[in-house]
Amino acid sequence: MAEHTLQSIAFPTLDDAQVSEFERCTNATKKLYRDGQTLISMGDRDFKFYIVKSGEVEIVDHSGDKPKTVVVHGKGQFTGDVSHLTGRSSIVSAVARGDCEVDEVSRDALRGALNQCPVLSDIILQAFIARRQLLRESPDFIGLRVIGSRYSTDTFRVRDFLAKNRALFKWIDVETDPEVDQLLKHFGMTEADTPVVALGDGDLLLLRNPSNRQLADAIGIHQPVEEAVYDLVVVGAGPAGLAAAVYAASEGLRTVLLESIAPGGQAGSSMRIENYLGFPTGVTGAELAERAILQANKFGARLSVPTQAVHLGWEKAYAVTRLEAGETVTTKCLLIATGADYRRLDVEGCELFEGKGVYYAATLAEGKMCRGAQVVLVGGGNSAGQAAAFLAQHASKVFLLIRGDDLYKNMSSYLVHRIEQTSNIELLTNTTIRRMSGDGHLGSVEIVNQKTGQDRTVETPAVFSFIGAVPRTDWLPPEIERDARGFIRTGADVAQSPHWTSRRHPFLLETSRPGVFAAGDVRSGSIKRVASAVGEGSMVVQFVHEFLKEM
Ligand SMILES: Cc1cc2nc3c(=O)[nH]c(=O)nc-3n(C[C@H](O)[C@H](O)[C@H](O)COP(=O)(O)OP(=O)(O)OC[C@H]3O[C@@H](n4cnc5c(N)ncnc54)[C@H](O)[C@@H]3O)c2cc1C
Repeated sequence: MAEHTLQSIAFPTLDDAQVSEFERCTNATKKLYRDGQTLISMGDRDFKFYIVKSGEVEIVDHSGDKPKTVVVHGKGQFTGDVSHLTGRSSIVSAVARGDCEVDEVSRDALRGALNQCPVLSDIILQAFIARRQLLRESPDFIGLRVIGSRYSTDTFRVRDFLAKNRALFKWIDVETDPEVDQLLKHFGMTEADTPVVALGDGDLLLLRNPSNRQLADAIGIHQPVEEAVYDLVVVGAGPAGLAAAVYAASEGLRTVLLESIAPGGQAGSSMRIENYLGFPTGVTGAELAERAILQANKFGARLSVPTQAVHLGWEKAYAVTRLEAGETVTTKCLLIATGADYRRLDVEGCELFEGKGVYYAATLAEGKMCRGAQVVLVGGGNSAGQAAAFLAQHASKVFLLIRGDDLYKNMSSYLVHRIEQTSNIELLTNTTIRRMSGDGHLGSVEIVNQKTGQDRTVETPAVFSFIGAVPRTDWLPPEIERDARGFIRTGADVAQSPHWTSRRHPFLLETSRPGVFAAGDVRSGSIKRVASAVGEGSMVVQFVHEFLKEM
């Protein structure tokens, strides 16, 4: 989108009639702020939304070395961004410039208005999305700073967690960045403390090698679950779980979505989904997930990240899910949408290099790390094809290894054509990795042609694995029946199950336990695609309504 169009979408001016309509929808409170008074501070949680009635409000970025003006809002303009819906902390401050009068609205009232006033909702939501995009693309906006080495597993984990959760941050590589010593000194840290995560001067946030949960708490990603009985608990926020949350919350069901790493699931790690209906020019998985999260939040679904479900049991008629941190969540219906993971490569030395040269996703974070280097990618499906095409834009060369001899067998032909036309991708058929070696970080791999026995060593800092998905079902009890590969059986497949206790026939997506459903990649026999996961997640909600009628 042209820069000026994006600017005008990001910073629209409401006319008097629109402001009056907004006031009617929200019962806004009128407030006066004196010149220099702060309306929102960077790091505030649950901050208010403001429409400027007179005077000006300056939006200031404090994340860099000096405060910078992002924009100045005048009459009819409004503050805020997607954090109002996601519940995260504010990433900027808002300060009155001159005396000003504003309409002040709480987060809940804003959400109500977004659901009740469709025209205003469009303007405000589009502005929020465009503001995030502008900040994300701005070379001046820093956000969080992550200081750590490209060879450190924890630095990779922190960057991966922040990137997957769409947090704005700048990575400062201890190995190459000239600012490092000065910055670490400034924060009172040494290289031994890395990865260090800081915001601004470090006064608002300064963490040494935080766990994902500590990081999520510090930047306001984590929303605790409530002690209530939910209508629907969804485990897993990939396309299936997100779709279910959007439909369930929009249809008035009390819904919570539990996600162990970041919303988006496997789709979130795709740099270009070209076959999802309605996106002729393709869409990144991250963008699709970001929009779905906003949609689910808009309708009032609660999203709890990073929250891993570790056990499922029952108390009377309710399903009780235990979480990693020990709390439990009780619900009338449960949806298992935990998807699948790529299988570990069965290669000598592989575990040693996970996060330090062996990766299971190819996003911008990994792309940056292998700039100019040659990389090895294993797998012959669509995800491998997409990753190869994406990595070829960053790496000097991509070796694509497949066990068989025909790439067309498991990959869509549009991707095979793209690979054939990309000069820096070399396809190696009948080939596997025999050994990985390196000193602390992956340095080289030994590959072998299984047909000819010929082997060679490839110097590389990165191997990407996109082979055989394994369902994430190891946390489930025997009452949830699975097939020989661990995928969850549903519908007609569980009608004769000894665990099936109801007199009626199981619904299409219902598991062997009445009221517990499965959708998406984790379901036995499902089609492993974004569209089918979204479709199944949406369908489940109808069965949930049917089940609740029976209770
Ligand atoms: C790189 C790549 C590219 C792809 N490209 C395409 C494409 O172009 N077109 C297409 O149609 N499909 C594509 N796919 C396939 C598509 O992404 C998947 O079919 C789809 O994401 C499945 O959605 P899902 O919601 O069922 O599961 P997933 O996407 O696997 O999501 C499951 C979620 O559950 C979470 N989770 C797991 N266990 C727990 C637990 N115990 N507690 C809490 N949370 C948990 C996970 O962290 C994850 O976020 C691609 C896949 C990959 C990896």
